[in-house]
Amino acid sequence: MTIDRHLVLRTYAQAAHTAYDTLTSLDQLSGDGDFGDNLREGLDLVVSALAARPAEPPFAVAAEVFLDEVGGTSGPLLGLLFQEIAGALAAGDDRAAWAAGVREGLAAIQRVGEAEPGDRTMVDALVPARDALEAGEDLRDVALAALAGARATAALRARRGRASYVGERAVGFADPGALGVALLFWSLARAQDR
Ligand code: ADP
Ligand code: MG
Ligand code: MG
Repeated sequence: MTIDRHLVLRTYAQAAHTAYDTLTSLDQLSGDGDFGDNLREGLDLVVSALAARPAEPPFAVAAEVFLDEVGGTSGPLLGLLFQEIAGALAAGDDRAAWAAGVREGLAAIQRVGEAEPGDRTMVDALVPARDALEAGEDLRDVALAALAGARATAALRARRGRASYVGERAVGFADPGALGVALLFWSLARAQDR
């Protein structure tokens, strides 16, 4: 299975534009309202960087942009995810490599951010996505698993990140970072279909 990694990242950038209002509203409810901007602007920078550096490994370029230039808690955490995906894909871009990249990226995010499943963070979308990838599920089912994990955060009270300061106010609405991560897996499934 060879998936066009440039296409994954371009599709992800488009998805961040489409979901911008939703992601912004959700972060206004539970945080400081900048998540939509962080993700959309970060991915726009990635698309520009990819156009300027087409021969470089796309997820390594994305990692560099998110680690160096994207703000918020989500910027560096997504940078770590992209970095681990880049590392795994350097060894081969089959299903096992995607599974390994997501597994290692999730581990890196948890090492740095110390969030556990159920804390109402992007970890809640990454865990079901990793499990579905490792089980060899179809990428559409991987995307659906991530989305289900993200939606389920609506029932959770945050124990990490800014949302933990607002207590019950955000309950009933999904965590923006978890939804933002689910869009990556949706983009991966979309790119496979092309
Ligand atoms: P900030 O709170 O700094 O403005 P962003 O708005 O960029 O950060 O990102 C918010 C998202 O980051 C949250 O919706 C959540 O998914 C994620 N997040 C926050 N803290 C953590 C953490 N410790 N581990 C993993 N993800 C986290
Ligand atoms: Mg924020
Ligand atoms: Mg912020």
